[in-house]
Amino acid sequence: MSSPLPPSSYYSAITSDQRLVCLFEHLVRGNKDVLLPEFDACFGYVYPDIINSCKVSPTESIEVVNKIISLGLGTREYHDQVLRCPYCGSEQIRVYFHCHFCNSTQLYKELLLEHIRDGVIGPISKFKDPTGTLICPSCGSKLSLEGRDYRTVGVWYRCLTCYRQMDLPKITYLCRGCKKEVTAHGLIISSVGRIVINKAAIEEFSRRHLAINPIVSTLREEGYVVSSPGTLLGKSGVSHPFDVVGVDKSGNTVAVDVAVSKEPINESVVMNLFVKVLDTNPTNTILVCIPGIQEGAKKLAPLYGIKIVEGTSVSDIMAPLKSIISTSLKVLA
Ligand SMILES: [Zn+2]
Ligand SMILES: [Zn+2]
Ligand SMILES: [Zn+2]
Repeated sequence: MSSPLPPSSYYSAITSDQRLVCLFEHLVRGNKDVLLPEFDACFGYVYPDIINSCKVSPTESIEVVNKIISLGLGTREYHDQVLRCPYCGSEQIRVYFHCHFCNSTQLYKELLLEHIRDGVIGPISKFKDPTGTLICPSCGSKLSLEGRDYRTVGVWYRCLTCYRQMDLPKITYLCRGCKKEVTAHGLIISSVGRIVINKAAIEEFSRRHLAINPIVSTLREEGYVVSSPGTLLGKSGVSHPFDVVGVDKSGNTVAVDVAVSKEPINESVVMNLFVKVLDTNPTNTILVCIPGIQEGAKKLAPLYGIKIVEGTSVSDIMAPLKSIISTSLKVLA
C-alpha cells in the first residue's frame, strides 16, 4: 500500500508523463474514475481507456497501468479470473473436449430429452421430425412446451472416430502462445484487475490543469503579474493564501480560488473565502467551481463581493472569467 500523497505531488506525478496527462483529461471529461480491462484476442487483457486516450499500443497500456500504481495515482482491485499457461504465462488458453476411449477431438454432442407423460428418454435427434418439430418417438405426441410436455434430462457425446458414447468427455487445455498442452492441474489461476483512480489525484488534476493553469495564462495575457499559489497581506497583518493572485500596473488585485468536488460546492467554501476577502480586500475576487455551486451558495457570493464561475471544462470557465476581468477593468477606467 502506498501512503497518500500531498495534492501537489499528484499533479507533478501526472505531468511527469504526457500519457498520464492525456488519460486524466479523458477521465475528467468522461467523469470516470475506474479503468476496466477488456480481453483482446491478440494481446490478452488490456485497458481500452488508456489505448484510446493516450494513443498507445495494447502492450503499452499495461505499462501505463503499472506506472499509475507505482506513482500512487490509483489502486488495483480484483476484476475477473484469468487462466494462464504455466510454461509461457499466456492468457490465451483454449479448451478441448476429447473422446475418453480414443482421444479424438471429433465429437458430437446431443441433448437427452424425456417425454414427461410416458417417461420415454432419447437423444433430441430421435424426437425431431423433418420439419424440426418435437414428436415423441414412442407414442407420437407433439411436444411443444418445455417443462410441461418434455424436459432435458442430460447430455451425451458421441465420438465420430470410434463411435462410442460418453456422458463426460476428457478435457484438456492448449496454450495458443507456446502451443503446449496443459492439464487442469497445471493451469495457473490468476486475476486481472480494474484500476481505481485516486479521487484526490483526479480532483487536483482538474483544479490545476483545467482551471488554475489556464487562469494564470489568461491573467498574464491581460497584463497581470501572477503568482500561483499566491498570497495577499491583510489589514490584520496576516498573509492569506489564494490559488491565484494577480496584480496589474495600477495595483489592482485579482484573487482566485478554485474548488473542485463531485457534488456542487456549498456555502462553507464561500464563507471561507469571504474571511480572506474581508481582511485583504482584493479589487476582484473570483471563485471557480468545478463542476458547479449550490443555489444558496451562489446567491450568497455577490453579497460578499465574490464572483462565481462554474463549469466542467476549460472553455466553460475561461469565457466568463475573461469577461469578469475585462468588465472590471472598464469600470475602473
Ligand atoms: Zn473415440
Ligand atoms: Zn411418448
Ligand atoms: Zn504457453
